Amino acid sequence: THFGFRDVPTREKQKLVGQVFSSVARKYDLMNDLMSLGIHRLWKRYFVATSGVKAGDRVLDLAGGTGDIAALLHPKVGPAGSIVVGDINAAMLGVGRDRLTDRGLVRGLDWVQCNAEALPFPDRSFDLVTIAFGLRNVTDKARALADMHRVLKVGGRVLVLEFSQVRPEWFRPIYDFHSFQVLPRLGTLIAGDRESYQYLAESIRRHPPQAELQRMLADAGFARASHRNLSAGIVAIHSGYRV
Ligand code: SAM
Repeated sequence: THFGFRDVPTREKQKLVGQVFSSVARKYDLMNDLMSLGIHRLWKRYFVATSGVKAGDRVLDLAGGTGDIAALLHPKVGPAGSIVVGDINAAMLGVGRDRLTDRGLVRGLDWVQCNAEALPFPDRSFDLVTIAFGLRNVTDKARALADMHRVLKVGGRVLVLEFSQVRPEWFRPIYDFHSFQVLPRLGTLIAGDRESYQYLAESIRRHPPQAELQRMLADAGFARASHRNLSAGIVAIHSGYRV
């Protein structure tokens, strides 16, 4: 059904989300390129380039299974820094780890299977926590944000890259057509998986829009909560600091 996942009990939903990502892990890259016409690469580059990450930083990249963000962060934290990639799905973590290993990126990287809602890390252990295209899939976002705050050092920063609400009214019908007509068809054609891409479009619509997510960051204890739209709000970057 159209909004099928909303009424499913939490445990079931987590299982479904797990299955969705297992089934698409391999074709994930090709689909991302097709869906966004390659622009997701630019969003990710911009996200890391403006993150303020520096040599020696210890970074947690949540929902980081594909390794995309970790690969961009790696040269920036340098040999003195480290990156922990956390993802709930072992298959996604495996794909990311293999991909980065093939590129010679091994040192300073740890791959940890974990739920963003219950992070297995001590308080105040990271300079930066990133989550790219992941918060949308987290069931209890408030709890996840609070836990990100907990594991950040004082002065540390959280950065969320996520689909958001497109800005100009006139753009919405075009975007909706792309989401509900083009995406599921591409999903069927490329990944043989219509449901996953229908779920994607629906989960984007259910995700809190810019102002609401910014409020959630503030409620989780983050100072100077702010956001910036990219590509007319197709995605937004939310930022906050632990003080
Ligand atoms: N960050 C990567 C990127 O930008 O290419 C991957 C994004 S992918 C769309 C979403 C990821 O979130 C999947 O790998 C999925 O396993 C993970 N995920 C979903 N729910 C999660 C949770 N509660 N905790 C941690 N990771 C989760």
